Amino acid sequence: MSQHPQTQAIRIQTERTGEKEHSTPLFLTSSFVYDSAQDMAAAFTEESPDVNIYSRFSNPTVDEFIQKIAVLEGTEDGVATGTGMAAVFSTFMTFLSKGDHVLSASAVFGSTHTILTKYLPKWGIESTYFNMNEPEKIEGLFQPNTKLLYVETPSNPGLDIIDLELLSSLCKPRGVLLVVDNCFATPMVQKPILFGADLIIHSATKFIDGQGRVLGGVIVGPKALIHPLYLFVRNTGPSLSPFNAWVLTKSLETLAIRMERHAESALRLAKHLEDHPKLSRVRYPFLPSHPQYAIAKKQMSNGGAIVTFELKGGLESGRKFLNALKMLSMTNNLGDSRSIASHPASTTHSKLSPEEKAAVGITDGLVRISVGLEHISDIIADIEQALDNC
Ligand SMILES: *Cc1c(COP(=O)(O)O)cnc(C)c1O
Repeated sequence: MSQHPQTQAIRIQTERTGEKEHSTPLFLTSSFVYDSAQDMAAAFTEESPDVNIYSRFSNPTVDEFIQKIAVLEGTEDGVATGTGMAAVFSTFMTFLSKGDHVLSASAVFGSTHTILTKYLPKWGIESTYFNMNEPEKIEGLFQPNTKLLYVETPSNPGLDIIDLELLSSLCKPRGVLLVVDNCFATPMVQKPILFGADLIIHSATKFIDGQGRVLGGVIVGPKALIHPLYLFVRNTGPSLSPFNAWVLTKSLETLAIRMERHAESALRLAKHLEDHPKLSRVRYPFLPSHPQYAIAKKQMSNGGAIVTFELKGGLESGRKFLNALKMLSMTNNLGDSRSIASHPASTTHSKLSPEEKAAVGITDGLVRISVGLEHISDIIADIEQALDNC
């Protein structure tokens, strides 16, 4: 019987060195030596040799991190990158060619939207957006040249959820790759491979690090798909640094318990806020009032760490709410042990027109909370007092 994910995230380890260290060693080296000229020649005759050559190609600390994520996601292999965006971009560059078409959820991470709309068209790759709340319309959007379907579920910041089995049933017969950004859920909460996804992408910067320290990204999937991705990353260089891989692989040892606590606190916060007089809507995947609650229950083991709500007072209330917070941080990250509040309409998305904001699911009063690991009573108390003052 295979071990539980909680155990695998702790016990998968690169081979110990002669020092017999207990914890994961950090191989902070750019290259590796050979015993002989013959060994060196042999290393270069294969596309992906078993030996380490150079840390842009492979590194034992990075490999441990990749192996853990692949196992946790229930798949075979992976490639690690310096950031989540490098993982997204490398995936597009590896599998798309001039004349291809991408079908993507409209609610995707801002920089992913920029790649799709600003850069891919430069190379003759077009994309079409679908609304995650209208899944029945997706089938009609496939084109003969559609190569890849891209989705984040739950989405950011709208927390829209889409049925991955449905997407897989549309992609499989057409030979379209189903690529899922699983950043918001992490493999401890949702394993898209089980629902038919082909490739899983993570920004490891978020919950996988979980303490706001390093950037990182990873793509996992079957060996046949990972091999061309590996060659792309090996040759073009967006590789993950061994130091960041070491931080991230150690973080995975606590991911399961962290996600449990994040989700327990997030659910408590969402329930607590549901009837608040200053709010018109509270959204959390595991609240029965979430429009896709049934799908969330089917494909996620808990609701994750992100709660959003709508302030009745709109833009001005949002600004006041942020300024009234005493403990929660105002920062662009999420998935940290520290709770974080953001109000996109008055900060990150303030330059967008009302139509543009609506297209990415941002309303004037929308507040996003990344629920951290502080005591839930302190999180609720800070949000309560800020609501009183906005
Ligand atoms: C942050 C994020 C990314 C980008 O990751 P970086 O590590 O910042 O490059 C991609 N997708 C989602 C859903 C994210 O939240």
